[in-house]
Amino acid sequence: MGYNDRNPSFTFRFGEYRHGKLNKLAKAAKMSTVDYVRSAILDPFLNGDLIPKAKDDLAVEMTKLKLQKIKAEIEYLKLKNRYMETFGSPMSTAATRILKPQIVSTPQNQITMSPYDAKNNIIQCVECSQLFRWENKDEFLKQKYEFELHMTNNHCRPLSYLEKSVLDDLRYSGGSL
Ligand SMILES: [Zn+2]
Repeated sequence: MGYNDRNPSFTFRFGEYRHGKLNKLAKAAKMSTVDYVRSAILDPFLNGDLIPKAKDDLAVEMTKLKLQKIKAEIEYLKLKNRYMETFGSPMSTAATRILKPQIVSTPQNQITMSPYDAKNNIIQCVECSQLFRWENKDEFLKQKYEFELHMTNNHCRPLSYLEKSVLDDLRYSGGSL
């Protein structure tokens, strides 16, 4: 067996775009293009060290997930801003810690709506729009409690984290309009 049989040379043609790309990669690696193709692509491939490129549908799925995450984060920022506008102070660290993962995992959740209408100083159910008004502090405290009961009895759910944190932070500041 001669040298040429033991060490055959390969010849094939490459399109301009791919050739250019290989030249660039080789240059960056400070190698000749032929050496680069052999030692950076063929050898690692035959050794099982090259990772196959992710399937296209997987890449699409990843992009969709990333997009969803960005949308959820925007939703979260909007919520924080609405809270700031409603209460004139940033959301508590505890509420932030609870809310963020909630929204990021379920962007459609209704918890992004505050039940408190600061302009009219009333609480409004985010699901059926029922209003909870008060004229004095006793009624105010009673209505906060009524609202929670309303959720349990009419909508079969506990207060969302936002509703709970809004109610917890809400202090009596006069009667409803
Ligand atoms: Zn309701």
